[in-house]
Order: sequence, then C-alpha cells, then structure tokens
Amino acid sequence: MKKISLMGATGSIGTQTLDVIREHPDEFNLTALSVGKNIDGARKMIAEFNPSLVSVQREEDAEILKKDVPLSVKVLYGEEGLVQVACHQDADILVNAVLGSVGLYPTMQAIEAGKTIAIANKETLVTAGHLVMEAARKKGVALLPVDSEHSAIFQALQGEQEKNIEKLVITASGGSFRDRTRDELVGVTVKEALNHPNWSMGAKITIDSASMMNKGLEVIEAHWLFDIPYDKIDVLQHRESIIHSMIQFHDTSVMAQLGTPDMRVPIQYALTYPDRLDRPGGKRLDLAEIGRLHFEKMDFERFRCLGFAYEAGRTGGSMTTVLNAANEAAVALFLDNKISFLGIEELIERALNEHEVIRKPDLETIREIDRRTRLTVSQWI
Ligand code: NDP
Ligand code: MG
Repeated sequence: MKKISLMGATGSIGTQTLDVIREHPDEFNLTALSVGKNIDGARKMIAEFNPSLVSVQREEDAEILKKDVPLSVKVLYGEEGLVQVACHQDADILVNAVLGSVGLYPTMQAIEAGKTIAIANKETLVTAGHLVMEAARKKGVALLPVDSEHSAIFQALQGEQEKNIEKLVITASGGSFRDRTRDELVGVTVKEALNHPNWSMGAKITIDSASMMNKGLEVIEAHWLFDIPYDKIDVLQHRESIIHSMIQFHDTSVMAQLGTPDMRVPIQYALTYPDRLDRPGGKRLDLAEIGRLHFEKMDFERFRCLGFAYEAGRTGGSMTTVLNAANEAAVALFLDNKISFLGIEELIERALNEHEVIRKPDLETIREIDRRTRLTVSQWI
C-alpha cells in the first residue's frame, strides 16, 4: 500500500489523482491533502478518504472546516499547512498538483524531508529549477514527471541513457487558437480561450496553452528534469495529442510514447513507477479509428510566448522566475477581464525587458523577485 500526500487536491490534476486512488483501493491510500479556497471540496474528500491532515489556503476557512470534521483530522492553513502536507511523515510519495510558484517552498521542504515527488506543478521548476534539481540530486530524491510530455520522455527513456539523447521533441496540440492568424487573436474572449480542443484542464494552464506559454514552460521544465540544453529541445505541433513527446537518439532512432489524451495515465505512471497497473475503463488507443496524425512546424511569430520562454531559459538565472511570475500575474488579469489576450504577452515582454538578471539566485531572492514581479505587472494596469 502506497501512502500519498496530495497538494492541490481540488484542481484538475488533483481530482484526477483522486480518481486513480479511488480506482486502486488496494494500492493507494490518501494520507494528507491540501486545497485552496474550495472547502466544500475538502469536506467531501475528508468524508471519502479520511486523511489525517488537511490544509487550506486561508486561516478563516481552516476555522470553519475544523468545526465540521472529525477531531482525528488535523486542519492547517497557508504556506505552513502546505509544507506539512508536502512533508507528511506517513506519506511515501507527494503529488504536487498545486498551481503556480506557491508550490516552490513546500517542494524544497519535501526534498529536504526525502520525499519522492510526482510533480505536475511546472511553475516550481520554471521559477527555480536550479535549486530544485540540485537539492533533489543532493538528497537522492526522485522527481517523477506528471506533465504528459515529460512523462512521455521519461517513459521513452527507460533502459536508455541520457547521454544518448540527441534531442527531445515536445509535442503541442496548439491550444484553443491553433487555427487562427495573429490578426484573429485580437479581441478573443476568455470563454474562447478556455475552449481547449483536446484536454480538459484548469483555467490557468488552458490559457497558457492558448498563448503557447504552456509549451514554453514545458521546454524549461524539460531542460531541468532531463538536464538537456535548450538547443536540443524542439517543439512540434501535433493536433491530435496522441504522441505525447519523443526522444531522438544519436543513432537517429526515435522513441515516442502514445496514448489517448487522459492525464490519469501519466499521473498513475508516476504513482506506480517502475510498475504499471491496469487502468479500469481506460480508453485504448485505436489508431485505425484515428486514421491520420498531423505534424506542423511551430509558428514563433504568432505565438511569441514560446520565444520568450526559450530566451529566458537560455539567459537563465532569475530570468525564468520573472517569466513565470509575469505570466501568472498576466493570465490572472486576463481571466479577470482586465487585459486582452495579446496583453498577456505584452506584459511578459515588458517584465523580461526591465529585469536585470541575477545569476544563481537563492531561494529568498527567487521568492522576492516572484513577489515583486507580480506586484509590478499588476500595477502596470
Ligand atoms: P487547477 O487550477 O485546476 O487547480 C489548482 C489547485 O491548486 C487547486 O486545488 C487550488 O485550490 C490549488 N491552489 C491554487 N492556488 C493556491 C494557493 N495559493 N494556495 C494553495 N492552494 C492553491 O490547476 P491544474 O490542476 O490544471 O494544474 C495544477 C498544476 O499542474 C499546474 O502547475 C499545471 O501547469 C500542471 N499541469 C496540469 C495539467 C492539467 O491537465 N490540468 C497537465 C499538466 C500539468 P482551490 O481550487 O481549492 O482554490
Ligand atoms: Mg503538458
């Protein structure tokens, strides 16, 4: 029986992690969880899974929740609560499915505590990949990718050696606006941007997919997870989201991982690695039914965020912290109808241009840059 602690339980990845746990009651047990503001969701999860620790974002919600859950359930809040969930003593593995760079500090603490981590929370790797990877290496902690592209690369890498990789090819569905010209991106609405053709995901990542920033964040995520330089990471548009990513080796051979687009597959793989379990009711891939797969070159002019991400990644240091924080702030403003869709990239570009890079920033510096960038970006509006 594997004991799991789960950060971001009420989110898209969080609830799909609960599906996987539910489908394998003899394999998994949920021992701790965190939510943000959805305390009704927390109540239901406590009733179903009976965890010993629950954390919520705000103190006032913790007070409310404490009154209506059994005394055996410890209720915490805020960053300290997240850290306690991340490091929960009974847990064999942490699933980090929280949204945004708020996941960084608890992740660092979980590494210190020696926890194996299934990581969906890409913003943590983008904002401070150098710190996370170095700490994980020192502690001998495994970071198992949940993001479908990185899970694909990780799966294709089994039995291979990183030194044999010539390049990674990360596939991109193209997001909600893949068939629009740049002119047609002017004035698009939040509702249109949230309408992703292939995947049902949280709001922020769906907007990131539409702006192609999600792919940019994934390039940086891949750089850190697989220790690969940026000029050996390609992005390829593949509208069916059947090939989740590929590795090209030096001998020209290419390994790909395929499957129907269902995040429960990479979530489950991270939980069972190196084993595999059945996926009850999981849709099998029927390539004859699909018939054709399509591939197109990425358009860096139309989706400028992808270029920003490569550039920030190559610059390194604190530049990716700014990229991530500016993007989180800008996407929140767009979702709040305060800026246009193309306004997202304008804010990010300005934040990157105005930032003087700091080489090898420590955790405190990263947290300060993250906080300041968000503030600055929202003050520009
Ligand atoms: P959601 O927005 O659906 O969920 C986010 C979760 O984080 C919720 O449980 C939310 O709580 C919680 N949360 C948000 N802010 C805070 C905070 N300040 N403090 C504590 N908890 C907080 O996001 P997704 O599930 O879509 O994405 C989660 C992560 O996984 C992201 O990093 C994303 O990039 C990555 N990912 C997601 C994929 C997907 O298919 N969705 C695919 C690949 C990667 P509440 O709702 O209770 O307020
Ligand atoms: Mg992905």
